[in-house]
Amino acid sequence: MRNYNPTKRILVTGGSGFLGSHLCDRLIEQGHDVLCVDNFFTGTKRNIEHLLHHPRFELMRHDVTFPLFVEVDEIYNLACPASPIHYQHDPVQTTKTSVHGAINMLGLAKRLRAKILQASTSEVYGDPEVHPQPESYWGKVNTIGIRSCYDEGKRCAETLFFDYHRQHQLRIKVVRIFNTYGPRMHPNDGRVVSNFIMQALRNEDITIYGDGSQSRSFCYVDDLIEAMIRTMNTSSDVTGPVNIGNPVEFTMLQLAQLVIDLTDSNSKLIFNPLPSDDPKQRRPDISLAKQVLDDWKPHIELAEGLTKTIDYFSKMV
Ligand code: NAD
Ligand code: UDP
Repeated sequence: MRNYNPTKRILVTGGSGFLGSHLCDRLIEQGHDVLCVDNFFTGTKRNIEHLLHHPRFELMRHDVTFPLFVEVDEIYNLACPASPIHYQHDPVQTTKTSVHGAINMLGLAKRLRAKILQASTSEVYGDPEVHPQPESYWGKVNTIGIRSCYDEGKRCAETLFFDYHRQHQLRIKVVRIFNTYGPRMHPNDGRVVSNFIMQALRNEDITIYGDGSQSRSFCYVDDLIEAMIRTMNTSSDVTGPVNIGNPVEFTMLQLAQLVIDLTDSNSKLIFNPLPSDDPKQRRPDISLAKQVLDDWKPHIELAEGLTKTIDYFSKMV
């Protein structure tokens, strides 16, 4: 019985996006029935093409800002554009997606008494003054800046999750995802990893914003998905928020150099203005994740993960 893994009906919102499509893959591999819901704002059918004829996979075009009536046992709520240029394209819709989307998915979970996981973000810490960031840090976030539609939307979604938990005894899990990269990232999403790789593969200038001394900590998608699924399967007293990400920190200059080396590119660095509210530093404290996720830690180092990602993008240039 210890290895007994009953088939569950699992809803993945944002399932045709970068992270969602990898999550669908893994859940199907584990033998579950997967319902992927997406409005294809930033996701694409190509990401889940290989699953479309799978007997345990179903795709539904739907916008989570509208109510959804389906029958499932678990919900992973990932629907939301994640890259700054995408979430700033229609900021009002971004906040609606996080807030109305959370209300609709929590309402669905409440009716079904289903367990629900929220894909929150390191952006809830804003431009952090505490480094690395533990879950106990409340953040330093601008309410009225160009990143606020995303940051504050995600913060409000966390609030809703915890109020549904306290008020309706809903089984919730909240993960705070730090910068994650890998195959199926959108090549034009403006995020640093996709930008640098595409620029390097085309021998174009590599665009460093600011002086490149700002830092991020990059997690390869496989490590992230493992942590997300483990979080969903924790005992009911574990609600999170739990930071998940890779705690090894790089400056953007270091990242650019690594990408140039791995692609053997002739690209040169150019320096562009730093966008407003761009966080100066970011690194997860993953002590809690290690403790509650059965000693989970990321295994794929940046050079190895970038090599796999470069391989994926090189088929597009
Ligand atoms: P993505 O843009 O590739 O995926 C988001 C998906 O949500 C897309 O398929 C998009 O079409 C869909 N979507 C957007 N609005 C929707 C709506 N109103 N209704 C239904 N579907 C909608 O981004 P991603 O990197 O895969 O991110 C997935 C989730 O993880 C997001 O919630 C994001 O905030 C969170 N996250 C990601 C990262 C990261 O580094 N990738 C970091 C922190 C948090
Ligand atoms: N960045 C950069 N050049 C680019 C794209 C991004 O220097 O072409 C920087 C950006 O200013 C930020 C970091 O890389 O400091 C990470 O940006 P990304 O949009 O990937 O993620 P986020 O800022 O949301 O962590």
